[in-house]
Amino acid sequence: QRAIGILTSGGDAPGMNAAIRAVTRAAIFAGFKVFGIMRGYKGLITDEIEEFSTQNVSNIIQRGGTILKTARCKEFQTKEGRQCAYDVLQRHGISALVVIGGDGSLTGARIFANEFQFQIIGLPGTIDNDLYGTDSTIGYDTALNTIMDCVDKIRDTATSHERLFFIEVMGRDAGFLALNGAIASGAEAAIIPEVATQEDQLDELIANGFRKSKNSSIVLVAESPSTGGAMGLAERVKKEYPNYDVRVSILGHLQRGGSPTAYDRILASRMGAAAVDALLDDQRNVMIGIKNDEIVYVPFTKAIKNDKPINRELMSTLRRLSI
Ligand code: ADP
Repeated sequence: QRAIGILTSGGDAPGMNAAIRAVTRAAIFAGFKVFGIMRGYKGLITDEIEEFSTQNVSNIIQRGGTILKTARCKEFQTKEGRQCAYDVLQRHGISALVVIGGDGSLTGARIFANEFQFQIIGLPGTIDNDLYGTDSTIGYDTALNTIMDCVDKIRDTATSHERLFFIEVMGRDAGFLALNGAIASGAEAAIIPEVATQEDQLDELIANGFRKSKNSSIVLVAESPSTGGAMGLAERVKKEYPNYDVRVSILGHLQRGGSPTAYDRILASRMGAAAVDALLDDQRNVMIGIKNDEIVYVPFTKAIKNDKPINRELMSTLRRLSI
């Protein structure tokens, strides 16, 4: 009987549990033995591994976070650490891995798979949506909805006080959450790392006078050194326009939590089942993506290129709808 391992690694994202459930159940359905590996690559190295039955993943589809826990692991970035991980897998008779994580986790997976000729299937688990080859990553839709709810609430107070708010959202060098969050919440603008010069984005905003006809303004800012973050932008505006009543809100880790949306649960379930199909099909070193509603296999090297382009049509839509 073939044995496979599942782990979640790097930043957690809502929907990871739905993915763990789907992989476990589809794999058991296919006749595999399934091992849950705790704390990502860390637990792989320290042998925190237990066999999973279908019951281990009962009642988790609706829960945020990851029952397998997640961690960052420096040791896995060394040859010795990865050798240790390989030995542990050999001891358990595990011949393939499903790795659920973001850019970093899939980078580690690619290196490990090449080094030991080990079969790995990746699932894109990150709220940032910054993996290439899939329309959406697991957790992105939930985070977007969380941001929308938060901005709606801030809008109430912003309007009452006639303030300008800079709201910082996650994204780690990707503007998807900021841009689509801005469209969903009717914000005035989004400042994102994909646009070459941040000065221009802010200047354009200021040139438009933050719409004097409006009694509040909300700007979503992607956290990134290249945007200067919400704090940096607010400082600049305060200095240059002392008459603006500027405030900052950094949404932070609440964006990672919460029960996954229907969209993320379905995405994770489909991708999890597809990962098992990929194993049966002897695919290796691919990330499962969904493009135009179809399952696709994306080679790791392509998925983690990290230059997923922002859709210009979205930027134009936001600009035209915020007049
Ligand atoms: P995410 O998967 O959310 O992008 P990280 O970037 O923190 O999260 O990566 C998660 C883990 O993946 C790291 O702690 C490390 O164990 C592993 N990893 C990342 N980059 C590499 C690499 N170049 N080589 C080996 N392992 C890596």
